[in-house]
Amino acid sequence: MVDFLSKSKRSELMGRVRGRNTSIEHIVRKALHGMGFRFRTHASGLPGHPDIVLPRHRKVVLVHGCFWHGHSACPKGTRMPTTRSAFWKAKIEGNKVRDLQVRSELRRGGWSVLEIWECQLRRPQRLLTVLGRFMAKGNVHVERKRGTSHGKLR
Ligand SMILES: [Zn+2]
Repeated sequence: MVDFLSKSKRSELMGRVRGRNTSIEHIVRKALHGMGFRFRTHASGLPGHPDIVLPRHRKVVLVHGCFWHGHSACPKGTRMPTTRSAFWKAKIEGNKVRDLQVRSELRRGGWSVLEIWECQLRRPQRLLTVLGRFMAKGNVHVERKRGTSHGKLR
């Protein structure tokens, strides 16, 4: 399971990191598939139409491009273009707010949510560890406290 990414696949992976979100998604799908998990993609019935849904496990994997979703933990997500920076900033802030909403809506619906960032794909081994850990988590029941995370964004 650990070695399912061959050398060529790994460099393919590296090349794709620069691509669009759909490519990132594709890599994560491949990884999960290689680990033997079945999933659905772009489930239209769920908040935010999550990229990858594992209904039987009640788990959702969201795949984010670092720039577009403003990853706060990496340079690509925090560095703004020098031209039209106000425009980009507003756009990305909007995406972040939406991501937050989607996450909390999914969790309220009892889904476990994992976010995978584009920059995580640079370390395939680690990506597999993260995915493996997430999938191994037995307790899929999310606390459904009322009124804790509501209202902040609306
Ligand atoms: Zn990142």
